[in-house]
Amino acid sequence: MWHIGGAGVAGSYLYRRLKDSGFDISIYDPKRHDYYIPCGFATNRYHISKFLGNVSIPTDEILEQEADEIKISGNNFSDSNFLPKGLCTIDKMKMEKLMVKNDVVNRFIIPHDSEKIIDATGISRYYLGKIENDVKMYAMEKVCRESPYNDFYFHFFSGGTGYFWSFPLKDRYHIGAGGINLDEVKSYLENYRGERTVARNIRMMPTIGNISSNNVIGAGESIGFISPLLGEGIVPAMENAELLFQCMKKTEEIDELNIIYAGSVKKKLLLYEQIGRLVINIQKNRVFNMHNIFTLRRAIQEVENFGMKPEIMKILWHFIARRE
Ligand SMILES: Cc1cc2nc3c(=O)[nH]c(=O)nc-3n(C[C@H](O)[C@H](O)[C@H](O)COP(=O)(O)OP(=O)(O)OC[C@H]3O[C@@H](n4cnc5c(N)ncnc54)[C@H](O)[C@@H]3O)c2cc1C
Repeated sequence: MWHIGGAGVAGSYLYRRLKDSGFDISIYDPKRHDYYIPCGFATNRYHISKFLGNVSIPTDEILEQEADEIKISGNNFSDSNFLPKGLCTIDKMKMEKLMVKNDVVNRFIIPHDSEKIIDATGISRYYLGKIENDVKMYAMEKVCRESPYNDFYFHFFSGGTGYFWSFPLKDRYHIGAGGINLDEVKSYLENYRGERTVARNIRMMPTIGNISSNNVIGAGESIGFISPLLGEGIVPAMENAELLFQCMKKTEEIDELNIIYAGSVKKKLLLYEQIGRLVINIQKNRVFNMHNIFTLRRAIQEVENFGMKPEIMKILWHFIARRE
């Protein structure tokens, strides 16, 4: 029997796929029912629809707001509009519930002696264990009734150290900031009054070489399936869970599965590693080097994948120009 730890995006998606295919599977998550885990709930409706189709959820059932207009500002450029390309917000918690359906989520951690475990515990890697040099950044979010920005808004911090966002939901806004400096992150949010304020770290680098350990296999943000550029992790978590599902259909023998799975995630993890290095280089003011030049096109593709058509020159200038 397989035991999934974590009923977030990756765990719930994988649970549904495996259950519908007749696998012997159970899911665990000690968090209280309806406990709010910080997330902006922004995603790309076209990309997520593919995965929602696999678990028979109509996109409209979880859709909150679609972007008409995306405002971006940053160091050396003031508000300008980027064209939307599928950017929207969803009700992530409802999506997770719909994926699990009425099945039991065990509200405790997986017993120690369990045979086969999937670690979908996100940032904590509870079952896989901690690793050295795990690169993370801070993120904080307020759930607000009002925002000065009606539509989707991003503001990039000087020196590529993070960004501020305001995303509209049906009747609320997710206003947050993520970055490498906690004081800077907090300073962007201090003037907003939220119904609740939540915070957690985000993984900024994939955990290449640490995606499984003995009888535990990682899925989702636990192994770094999250864009280091934007902190976008919803679609990547589903994409990764789908890859693991496809591997599990080939074999359930754990050693063989580890090998097949490592092969199937390698390309994407290497891409995230390259983009993560680009971000770190920019933060350290190492803007002009071959790595950055080769990776830039991929980073811009990441922005498009999230759901907007970036004005490349503005982004370039933002990072090239001297910090304030
Ligand atoms: C402030 C913030 C804003 C973000 N905004 C966005 C956004 O707008 N768009 C986007 O795409 N991504 C966003 N992300 C990233 C995205 O939320 C995550 O990358 C994504 O949810 C990861 O999915 P996951 O299933 O791997 O992990 P999670 O969704 O984090 O799920 C992990 C689950 O594991 C459970 N768990 C923890 N410990 C245990 C244990 N021992 N046993 C069992 N279960 C356990 C937790 O309770 C949780 O339910 C944001 C992240 C943060 C922090």
